[in-house]
Amino acid sequence: MRPIDLASRSGVALRRAFQTQQLRQAAGSRQYSNITSLPPTYEKLHSKYTEVRRVLGAQRLTLAEKILYSHLDNVEESLLNNTNNGRDIRGKANLKLKPDRVNMQDASAQMALLQFMSCNLPQTAIPASIHCDHLIVGSKGADDDLQAGIQTNHEVFDFLESAAKKYGLDFWAPGAGIIHQTVLENYAIPGLMMLGTDSHSPNAGGLCTITIGVGGADAVEALVGAPWELKAPKVLGVRLTGKLSNWASPKDLILHLAGLLTVRGGTGYIVEYSGPGVETLSCTGMATICNMGAEIGATTSIFPYTEASARYLEATRREQAVKNAAAFQNFPGAGASEDAYFRFKADEGAQYDELIEIDLSKLEPHINGPHTPDLSTPLSQFKSTVQEQKWPEKLSAGLIGSCTNSSYEDMTRVESIVRAAEEAGLKPKADFYVTPGSEQIRATLERDGTLETFEKAGGIVLSNACGPCIGQWKRQDGVEKGTVNAILTSYNRNFRGRNDGNLDTMNFLASPEIVTAMAYAGSTTFNPVTDSLTTPDGKEFKFPAPHGLEGPKTPFDIGKDVFKVASQPPNPNEKVAISPTSERLALLEPFEPFPNSDLSGLKVLVKVSGKCTTDTISAAGPWLKYKGHLPNISANTLNTAVNAETGEVNVAYDLNGSKHTIPELAKLWKERNQPWLVVAEHNYGEGSAREHAALQPRYLGARIIVCKSFARIHETNLKKQGVVPLTLANEQDYDKIAAGDEVATVGLYDMLQNGGQGEVQLKVTKKGTGEEFLVPVKHQVSKDQAGFILAGSALNLLSKSASV
Ligand code: SF4
Repeated sequence: MRPIDLASRSGVALRRAFQTQQLRQAAGSRQYSNITSLPPTYEKLHSKYTEVRRVLGAQRLTLAEKILYSHLDNVEESLLNNTNNGRDIRGKANLKLKPDRVNMQDASAQMALLQFMSCNLPQTAIPASIHCDHLIVGSKGADDDLQAGIQTNHEVFDFLESAAKKYGLDFWAPGAGIIHQTVLENYAIPGLMMLGTDSHSPNAGGLCTITIGVGGADAVEALVGAPWELKAPKVLGVRLTGKLSNWASPKDLILHLAGLLTVRGGTGYIVEYSGPGVETLSCTGMATICNMGAEIGATTSIFPYTEASARYLEATRREQAVKNAAAFQNFPGAGASEDAYFRFKADEGAQYDELIEIDLSKLEPHINGPHTPDLSTPLSQFKSTVQEQKWPEKLSAGLIGSCTNSSYEDMTRVESIVRAAEEAGLKPKADFYVTPGSEQIRATLERDGTLETFEKAGGIVLSNACGPCIGQWKRQDGVEKGTVNAILTSYNRNFRGRNDGNLDTMNFLASPEIVTAMAYAGSTTFNPVTDSLTTPDGKEFKFPAPHGLEGPKTPFDIGKDVFKVASQPPNPNEKVAISPTSERLALLEPFEPFPNSDLSGLKVLVKVSGKCTTDTISAAGPWLKYKGHLPNISANTLNTAVNAETGEVNVAYDLNGSKHTIPELAKLWKERNQPWLVVAEHNYGEGSAREHAALQPRYLGARIIVCKSFARIHETNLKKQGVVPLTLANEQDYDKIAAGDEVATVGLYDMLQNGGQGEVQLKVTKKGTGEEFLVPVKHQVSKDQAGFILAGSALNLLSKSASV
């Protein structure tokens, strides 16, 4: 009997398999004395790592590099091609990676599974899980909201569950928890590499995994067993010293870092934490920091494996994983050179492309926002900033929890200040919502009395789902759309309209403790560190500094049976549930291949100014329900984009001057067979790893997107859907191109034919005057990506190879 594959097992199944393994070892088999006695995941990791060492010799490696390179499909080819013989890998090598598993949330899983189904395979090549978390609206409280959510979305949940049964995936039902919290509790094991169809998947880097947020098309590549390609990231080191104290929390570290680096600062980098300060953080605190690495555009983030990581594995009933990690780090045993050991930390002397030092002892709480996560203000300056900027002083709601901040530590720290306020007779002045990240954390907090404390204080506990974090929030406070108002959340993202669909809601991000204290004050100018509140009997009340427990005193409570994972082998007889008349699910039609020539006759649909996030290109909130129906969801395409020429939102003009919404005009042009392009500014497609933001324009007839710069995931997503992303070689050329102009490509077809090699230009013909000029553009198209574009999409290519 083979030892267990760590990557394939969830908590309960994992424990069962570990027990079997322990029995076998107790019966006399050699314990990790040779490589085949390691669990297969570590056996594979060690074999690949040995190859990496053979190719790179004694080169000092960061932790991220060790894990990433040890997941290469072809180590030598990936590390030595175009890399100055392995000396210059970062930013140069195209890594072809074989991840250990894929995790999908319900909104993105629909399209991923529809794409996987097109490949006609009986099961996935690697383990995967589906988490029903994004579609539940937060409103009155967990029970009501969950029932309503299940009723409204049963068609989608039935589809996902039937697909899980057919292909042998783990299925986490609605209410079981938010993907990242569930993954941390059940699947994250040090040294794994995972893909997640959600941009905050790097959360699991808090438990020393490399976890990368991707679109459904990338997930499908991994699910069919094809290598997944990534330009070797650079590594940004963050060295931590000191120790957090008083009101400062892990959230404040990442809020501060977002302010330093901006939403683009981490692009092309893995953020790797090191230094003595790391040892002072909890595992869940490290996960919070990694989760919000998405807000600085990082490929992913990672922490070393520490004693706190081991404690978290034990608290989540994965004691054997701790033993395995220790045994693995001690393999191959006496006499081997130090480099033969895979340690879950950077090599001594490893170099970072950039290094930032942060002294945790000096960190103060921060509040980031509104409307962007990198507008960071230290708490001590927040009052004056609010007043200078004329932001609302009244706080209308405080929302804590979500995948970012619902750990036991977070919640017990909040509990400590809620208890103090309650004892003083105070109640929150603003609405106060709590979102547990999973059933496990909810049940544990209920068992230990924390939730009761929140409810007694008037807090509303929402279901274990994304809810208000992703626009699924039915506000009960009468704040209408168009009303300027301020909310504070412990979530991770705060673009306009993100939470309640109101573009005038200002969401400020802070730690759960700060959010809660300010909810008691009902004011954005209150500083709990220095200011006091007045109690009903007229006394001054000052919050004590929060304190909490890293984890529960006894292991986590697993919670209600109904929320346990459904884990099953593939069943080829299972019928995947899709009604042909459905408005929410539609089978996919393949996109047409690239023509045998350059593109010509394209027209600029709209020139966009300012931020154009994936939320702008494909809004969430009420549109989430159409994620599995490409024609229907396409009616939201770019519907909050700003027209650069008129300043209007969601307005585009046809060639005859008639006025339309952007998606209406795109649909008209699709019907007319008029291919089009969009012109945009910086960091186009930042935000969620939302492949619909690539699929929808493609479905409606976009062939290229031209902008000043792209967000990494979105740029890749475009290429996978057969849309060519091009950046302006001279940014000022943005001013020369306008809506309605005609565009042809020069050199694009040759570049694609040559596997991504070659220069590309655009020939622009001005609408009205007929003036012509050439615009030089840049691209990042690899050989494989050129193949996707030529085939019409990555899926066209994959389904061809899967059917061979
Ligand atoms: Fe859900 Fe928000 Fe976390 Fe995304 S960031 S997984 S929407 S809770």
